[in-house]
Amino acid sequence: MYNTGNKMKYPVFKYRWRWMLKNSPEELWKYISNTELFNHDTGLPPVNDLTADGGELVNARHRLKFYRLGIPVEWVEEPFQWVRPERFGVLREYSKGPVAFMRVIVNLNKIEDGDHKTLLTYDVDITPRNPLGLLAIPIQVGLISRIQFGKIFNRYDSHIGISERSIVFEEKNHLNSGNIDRIHKRAAALPKDETSNHLKEKLLNLLSFGTEPYLSQLKPRTLSVMWNVPYPEVLTFLLQATRAGILQMQWEILCPLCRGAKESYEHLDELDSSVHCETCNIDFNANFEQSVSLTFRPVAAIRQVRGERFCVAGPQVTPHIIMQQLLPPEGMKTLSIQLEEGAYRFRALDSPGNQLVRVVAGGDDKYKIIVSEAGWDDNDIQLSHDVSITLQNDSSHEKLVILERTAWSDEATTAAEVTAMQSFRDLFSSEALRPGQEISVGSLAIVFTDLKASTNLYRRIGDAPAFGLVMDHFDTLKAEIVKENGSIVKTIGDAVMAAFRSPDAAVRAMIGAQEALKLNTNKGQDPLKLKVGIHWGPCIAVNLNERLDYFGTTVNMAARLEGFSSGEDIILSEAVFEDPAIVKMIAEKSAKLDCDKIDTTLKGFEGEKFNVFRITPVNQEG
Ligand SMILES: [Zn+2]
Repeated sequence: MYNTGNKMKYPVFKYRWRWMLKNSPEELWKYISNTELFNHDTGLPPVNDLTADGGELVNARHRLKFYRLGIPVEWVEEPFQWVRPERFGVLREYSKGPVAFMRVIVNLNKIEDGDHKTLLTYDVDITPRNPLGLLAIPIQVGLISRIQFGKIFNRYDSHIGISERSIVFEEKNHLNSGNIDRIHKRAAALPKDETSNHLKEKLLNLLSFGTEPYLSQLKPRTLSVMWNVPYPEVLTFLLQATRAGILQMQWEILCPLCRGAKESYEHLDELDSSVHCETCNIDFNANFEQSVSLTFRPVAAIRQVRGERFCVAGPQVTPHIIMQQLLPPEGMKTLSIQLEEGAYRFRALDSPGNQLVRVVAGGDDKYKIIVSEAGWDDNDIQLSHDVSITLQNDSSHEKLVILERTAWSDEATTAAEVTAMQSFRDLFSSEALRPGQEISVGSLAIVFTDLKASTNLYRRIGDAPAFGLVMDHFDTLKAEIVKENGSIVKTIGDAVMAAFRSPDAAVRAMIGAQEALKLNTNKGQDPLKLKVGIHWGPCIAVNLNERLDYFGTTVNMAARLEGFSSGEDIILSEAVFEDPAIVKMIAEKSAKLDCDKIDTTLKGFEGEKFNVFRITPVNQEG
């Protein structure tokens, strides 16, 4: 008799597959735990995230849905749990479709067996929800998935280190002849030098054969590695390709905790600086230094990239998280973890605060972390590289405990970095913030220059020749600034305001500019003398006259420093002078740079006093 009130009992199908792989667990982790790439490669349909609609899910659980062979499949996914680079797993509980439960656990064990360094064990426990599941699971999972997964893992394994790029490439060409004609037509606007031609070819290949998840978020730094071309050149090329109408920019706002992209905009003036993260359940303010990053994607007329997601929460969605574990109320777990030296923190989702730890040689090799309503203790904790950690949940709630690196990923291209680039300002002169919007860009080196005695120059050699010299000096200055990845923010008469990401880049560019001005001088003529002041500190980006500009104390101070320059020296604030890179530069160039402290102090805005320093490049020719 068929009884709808009682769920039919189905057996649990348990599968365990093993593969021996040539790379080490550390090398494989980035690919094997990239569930987005893997699900796409296995041919699973993209998922719809229904989490926000349903409500009531805690600890980063997701409600997800897709259609497979026309059948709706819907499930709640527990947070992935992992310990990098050894293990990850997830549990899914289904409310629609042929499956009731599925648990996947993947282990990467280090082995030494001839050519093989890793034993990959893939465990799947799967319970049917209905007779269709009972029939389909042994075929779909037991036979088809086993063969298919093995092929994919072996493909990743054989490409790592040799031709990593082929992992993000497919055999099928996604471009039709119309797309290709359009690319060539638009590419005519790109520079014709050797580097550009080389990169054009690489980009065409990527647009033709790249997988969709990869193309939906092109990162300049990963492309620089894959193409083996220096990062600044790749970034500039991608900006040029955007100007030419092949790519488009995506300004992504990253959550400071999970670092996931929460909002994405094509233009800076669409950006709203207050953002909410669903996963972490926090509100935050975007700043250019950390939370706004730039990625690219092809424009739809070149290649349609739907931006579909194939997995929303696998370990590679948050690669800075080393360990993530779900602990039941009063639960406890002990795990052994391998950690590289550096700064980390423990935190629990939806709990305030965190516990900072440092990993150093000789640190504790055993440690117990207690998660409670009382918060974290602030002891200075030092852990060893190989540590056994006990996680203990003293609270009466389930806790998602996370161990993560505190350093921001250096894979991201930050808005602070891009907006301080000359090529960005040249190509997207109207790309600015919304009027009235102010956004922190972190610290910049701000440079002010002016020509010494330019009024005398006009009087002495006449207006037209003097004007020519002044214009040439702008070109010289710009060339030296671009060489150091800085940018001219604006010119005011003969004066220039420029911005750099680091103090040493600013100092090198200015030494270069003063030297170049000397070299460019005709015989018998007095060289133009460039007065320079440099300060380094936090700045705020604003929209001023439709251009991206900076303001703040740092800018005001830098403007005042320039007044102390004689035109044969560079005036540095204490913040610049004491920067480790400058200290090193002065020590190394001791024969070529004289430096002294100026006998004055600048008053800041709250009565603070600043020391001021002068460096003078010593003339080597004489
Ligand atoms: Zn978040």
